[in-house]
Amino acid sequence: MTTTPRPDVATRSHLGRWLRTQTSAIVPDWIAAVRIRPPVRVQGTEAPPPIENVLRDIYAAMAIALEVGRYDELEQSAKALVEAHRPMGYSLGSLLGIVALLKSNLWLAITAAFGAENALSQLQGLDFVFSHLTMKISLAYLAETERAMQDELEQTKWRLEKLDRSKSDFISIAAHELKTPLTLIQGYADILNLELAKDTNERRRSALVGLASGTHRLGIIIQDMIAVSMIDNDVLTLHYQLTVLHHIAQIAVNDLEMSIYDRRLTLSIQPFPSDLPSFYADPQRLYLVFNHLIGNSVKYTPDGGGITISAQVIKPDTEQGTSFVEVIIADTGIGVAPEDQDRIFDKFYGVTEPLRHSSGRTKFKGGGPGLGLAVAKGIVDAHGGKIWVDSPGRDEKNCPGSTFHFLLPIHKQPPDASRGEERLGIKDK
Ligand code: ADP
Repeated sequence: MTTTPRPDVATRSHLGRWLRTQTSAIVPDWIAAVRIRPPVRVQGTEAPPPIENVLRDIYAAMAIALEVGRYDELEQSAKALVEAHRPMGYSLGSLLGIVALLKSNLWLAITAAFGAENALSQLQGLDFVFSHLTMKISLAYLAETERAMQDELEQTKWRLEKLDRSKSDFISIAAHELKTPLTLIQGYADILNLELAKDTNERRRSALVGLASGTHRLGIIIQDMIAVSMIDNDVLTLHYQLTVLHHIAQIAVNDLEMSIYDRRLTLSIQPFPSDLPSFYADPQRLYLVFNHLIGNSVKYTPDGGGITISAQVIKPDTEQGTSFVEVIIADTGIGVAPEDQDRIFDKFYGVTEPLRHSSGRTKFKGGGPGLGLAVAKGIVDAHGGKIWVDSPGRDEKNCPGSTFHFLLPIHKQPPDASRGEERLGIKDK
């Protein structure tokens, strides 16, 4: 690799002095030669300095660099050039092209001024300064690009947060507005049920059953909407009481019995470990976790498939540590692609085909509002636990299956606060 020899101080300062005296004569010629577009003001920003000023600054800074060996001004000029032109769409290549043109113009001016024999040593000095300038422009350009990208990222983040807030507000308002009429419908349905208790007319009976199941489903959706907006706003409260986890799993399974039967699925609950005591948790909220996870296994497993529910106790590494219970819900369904395994816990994830949404809650691949896993995660997190899925991938033909896991701390005393604040004391999965 060849390097440009650094010219001696006397030659450099001579060239520097010469450059300084030539500024006003040469700069206008340069501008005419490179035909730079005049800078435009980008809305909301300060007006960029006119290009003559920037070039004059570069020129003067080169003179200082040569004369006294100080490069600060050169760096400032490089920055000014980038700041004035990058927002106007100048690429790094075109800025360096301008510098190359300036260099060749100056080359000619020096050869004319110093004569062919003396020009070479002057040009070596100039070359050194131009290399420095090129490097500073490149660095300033990269820094400016990074800053602009960061600004853009901040803007996008702010817009997304705003969107998320308005989505969350909408969910909360819609859920509360729907709750009142639903309570009325449920009340009238109960009255009808009582009035027609002895009615043997098949059509009226099945209309009543349909009314009950429709209102029940709507109730669950509203409950999920309220839970998800509480989770979003960090106000989900837990009502801790002694809880027998096995019973909750059983109740959730019983509530889905009809769907499991209709879909010809085999569901087994393995005996929960004998060393799992009853512990303090919020059973109503945990019911929702089981309900959503088992409901999903039913929904995403083809007819005739299997679902297994089991649990194990995870002892802490130290005596003072907290024990956890791990619940495992495994199915032989369509599975979850690796790239989706984190994202399915976001609200509305996977809600892409609204047409599927009228299908039953547990119909194979029947769409849902995309809130179930977000609610399950919010509840498990609030308990100080963790939830995740393992699956070899999504394959609707070969059905590799999914295994959902969630961990809960085994509190033998009610935790101090009503919110689950204890963080996991064990390693990430
Ligand atoms: P929904 O079922 O209403 O779409 P969820 O939040 O319950 O919303 O689930 C989000 C997504 O996660 C689903 O759309 C589905 O793609 C995927 N998923 C959840 N559970 C399973 C499962 N057991 N097997 C395969 N995919 C699942």
